[in-house]
Amino acid sequence: MTAKLIDGKAIAAEVRRKIKDRIDVRRENGLRIPGLAVVLVGENPASEIYVRNKCAACDESGVLSSSYNLPDDAPEEDLLALIDELNNDAGIDGILVQFPLPAHIDADKVTEQIRPDKDVDGFHPYNIGRLALRRPSLRSCTPRGVITLLEHTGEPFYGRQAVIVGASNIVGRPMGLELLLAGCTVTTCHRFTRHLDEHVAQADILVVAVGKPGVVSGSWVKPGATVIDVGINHLKDGSLIGDIEFDSARERAAWITPVPGGVGPMTVATLLENTLYATEELHN
Ligand code: NAP
Repeated sequence: MTAKLIDGKAIAAEVRRKIKDRIDVRRENGLRIPGLAVVLVGENPASEIYVRNKCAACDESGVLSSSYNLPDDAPEEDLLALIDELNNDAGIDGILVQFPLPAHIDADKVTEQIRPDKDVDGFHPYNIGRLALRRPSLRSCTPRGVITLLEHTGEPFYGRQAVIVGASNIVGRPMGLELLLAGCTVTTCHRFTRHLDEHVAQADILVVAVGKPGVVSGSWVKPGATVIDVGINHLKDGSLIGDIEFDSARERAAWITPVPGGVGPMTVATLLENTLYATEELHN
């Protein structure tokens, strides 16, 4: 079997097009245009690229983006004060603080300073809690984007065994909550999981988000599985690869995401979806 590719680039483009259509209708009806504030602290080249991509996606979809750059040595209070200002700005529907932050800034404090109804990254404990309680509001972008990719395969969720490798606050944990909500039986693996290969071999839906190339061997993949590779690893030659051995996994799976062009574009598209959701449902 050779797996079909889940084309994240094309699916994300379709999502962005739909967002643009809805924003065009809002404009025609004289309604407010969604506004996203993007905050970057310091000069991290990878973060600068992510922020540029997010602002470009906003422009393309008609979301008004505004960027705020603070210096590397900006005191934590300055960042918290900026967030407060944006929290109180009625033209801003979403606030995104690009991570990682410099070591002297407490990332948890920053996450919790953002008003939950403007938390378009979906990282605030309030929004994670709502997802855990089956009453989601703003949902973490990467896991929610993965659900959109899975929906496009047309495969069912109910009763399927989902295995997540990686248990971070921003990907693995909310991914488990999303798949549970979707009706899967969920196993989450992490650094201390024993016999990772045996867990992976059970997965009808496999999501890997670790950040280590080859952490999942393609030979472990259950024949016919749907395989989602969230990992992004930069090689010395400038290319990008995921966490799963792609070629051998593709021989066994039914569906698989490429890296790049799989989950990455969907994360950005979901950020825009969240911003529009905040405008329409939370700030109307
Ligand atoms: P992270 O915070 O470093 O978390 C990695 C997770 O993997 C941790 O839960 C860790 O376990 C677990 N882990 C480490 N070694 C393991 C092993 N040998 N076996 C099983 N689990 C292991 O990373 P992250 O932020 O979740 O990101 C993961 C990857 O996804 C990175 O490559 C990142 O660049 C990528 N990413 C991509 C997107 C996208 O849009 N495509 C978005 C976000 C992240 P412990 O919890 O026990 O430490």
